[in-house]
Amino acid sequence: MAVRHFSLVRTPLARLREDAMEPDRDICSAKGCQADAAWDLQWNNPKIHTPERRKSWLACDEHRASLSDFLGSRGFLRDVVPHRPAV
Ligand SMILES: [Zn+2]
Repeated sequence: MAVRHFSLVRTPLARLREDAMEPDRDICSAKGCQADAAWDLQWNNPKIHTPERRKSWLACDEHRASLSDFLGSRGFLRDVVPHRPAV
């Protein structure tokens, strides 16, 4: 599978910073990436979230595809929209 090399695969979803607030700027959610976020990946895990709930991962241009693949391969990905910084 294309995403198998990706570091997030080994991280349980619950331990990802899905609820973390970055104090100064919005950065990519990929592990170890400090790039500014350009995309908002909106996802939902039907096992733990109600259907209308949306979690959000931010992604830079480089990681948009791999993060989307990670969520998509699990059937979690609902939408990918351009990220607008909340300033
Ligand atoms: Zn990134």
